[in-house]
Amino acid sequence: MIPLLVLLFCIIGLLMGWFSNFIITFFLNDKTEFKFERKCSHCGTKFSFKNTIPILSLFYRKCKVCQKNVSVRYTFVEILHEVSYLFVATTFIQQNLFMALLYMLTISVLIIIAVINYNAMSNYSFLVLLLLLIGLICLIVNQSGMQEHIAGFLLSSIIGICIFLASCTFKAGNILDFNNIKLFAICGLIVGWKSILFAYVLCLSLSILLLIVLKLLKSKKRNVYVSFISLFCISVIVSIFIGDIVLNAYLLLF
Ligand SMILES: [Zn+2]
Repeated sequence: MIPLLVLLFCIIGLLMGWFSNFIITFFLNDKTEFKFERKCSHCGTKFSFKNTIPILSLFYRKCKVCQKNVSVRYTFVEILHEVSYLFVATTFIQQNLFMALLYMLTISVLIIIAVINYNAMSNYSFLVLLLLLIGLICLIVNQSGMQEHIAGFLLSSIIGICIFLASCTFKAGNILDFNNIKLFAICGLIVGWKSILFAYVLCLSLSILLLIVLKLLKSKKRNVYVSFISLFCISVIVSIFIGDIVLNAYLLLF
């Protein structure tokens, strides 16, 4: 039964990765119209079905008309979905099937927000609302861990406000807005205080690392604040898998 469920979750992962790409395109196109099609980002030529097959599309990236390659973003989103869903399937299925499904949905929404934000488009309030709904369902489903979720919400709100104030002080306030604080708080609600604390440590470490790498490369292309929300989303996804384990191990040291 369990191997079958894992296989089923892997197939759902592929489909969700495929579907998420259309949602990302919809958001990046200023939410004008939702279409199940993929176009060349250089000349606008519509791609055929084989160019949209999950993961395999990596080998059909070249546009027939302009001969340029399309972004690897599509494959990246699909692989991230597949790996994350596989992790959730193997980690949570035996504990709580419904929570596993909620985590999968959370991961998909976070991947979408990460990619949208990386492309410097920050109007994703609908997705934050969807995360809030998932968070509230988590509270109902996981009543034994309710305190942990509420503590996560409060802790993440406080850290979020501190980061926002710090970003204002360092004149990066135009990148972080109230929507971001809502995102921070709701992620805390979904994953609980231990995992969200781990997510912040990971996110800040990755940001500092990115800042150093950009400094070394003398790159002026992308500033670290733009990618902060994307890094945060990825950190929350990682924290879903290992946040609790790492923090419990750390607390045992004392
Ligand atoms: Zn083209």
